[in-house]
Amino acid sequence: MIRPLPGRLVLIGDPVTHSLSPRFQNAALRSAAIPLQYEAIKVSAADLASVVADLAAVSATGNITIPHKVSFAALCRTLTGAAEIAGAVNTFWVENGVLHGDNTDVEGFNFAVERLLGSTPIRQTVALLGAGGAAAAVLSAANQWQETSITIWNRTREKSVAVAERFGGVRVAAVSEQAVKDATLVVNATSIGMTDDSFPVDPALIPETASVLDIVCRIGGTAWVRAARGRGLNASDGREMLIAQGAASFRRWFGLEPDVAAMRGAIGLTG
Ligand code: NAP
Repeated sequence: MIRPLPGRLVLIGDPVTHSLSPRFQNAALRSAAIPLQYEAIKVSAADLASVVADLAAVSATGNITIPHKVSFAALCRTLTGAAEIAGAVNTFWVENGVLHGDNTDVEGFNFAVERLLGSTPIRQTVALLGAGGAAAAVLSAANQWQETSITIWNRTREKSVAVAERFGGVRVAAVSEQAVKDATLVVNATSIGMTDDSFPVDPALIPETASVLDIVCRIGGTAWVRAARGRGLNASDGREMLIAQGAASFRRWFGLEPDVAAMRGAIGLTG
């Protein structure tokens, strides 16, 4: 059954113009005949708390993106288990004036990996590039996989050390080449490649039997994934994860199953 409609449905981030979420969430809203518009709003770190207070006052609901997932978690009165473990929020809603946070990136990432590997992930040697909010969701998911080891690399080393300590058993690499050396699965959870064609690591350094998941999303895919495929690697960009996390958010907001085919079509995914 559909829940009471929120006052607004928003994506909060900075930048937000690159985001594909308005395309597919608005397609799902139209398909379900829900009279709301999903709006992307640019909010700086300095303004986050006051904007969120204004949005809570109108019972808004929505998503959080780069770079606010971790700081938003601290503003929520309650967190789901997934958001608590990740320490990051990508989905929020307001009930009786109380702000709640969830993290559907964890579910979305697991879905995308299963699709890429063609099976439930097990016995993986994961190289994780990045230590922000999305990387925390990747760690939450991969930490649950059986017989799996994880090495993390991040531009700002202190952040990778902090996140590795929080999750436990995660190795920290000094350079990205070291992280990917023996990997069976390489995940880009940095924002490299989001607005240009730069690479988080040279695909030539990735073992030829490894799979590559770039969680960055772009219409037509990312240059890094194209280069990895050009080397014969099994590689996918972040659009499968994006749809899966977005569908989970939609269920959370409305208690309804979204039209996933319409969502996929809106960002050029087929099959
Ligand atoms: P975030 O919390 O702001 O973290 C950004 C990460 O990227 C940090 O590790 C940062 O390193 C790194 N980074 C940024 N610019 C860099 C550069 N020039 N060189 C090296 N590292 C750089 O952002 P986030 O929320 O984790 O999002 C990261 C990316 O994942 C974004 O592109 C986002 O759109 C994408 N994402 C996709 C999905 C999906 O469903 N497909 C879901 C979530 C996120 P420092 O710590 O050194 O700054």
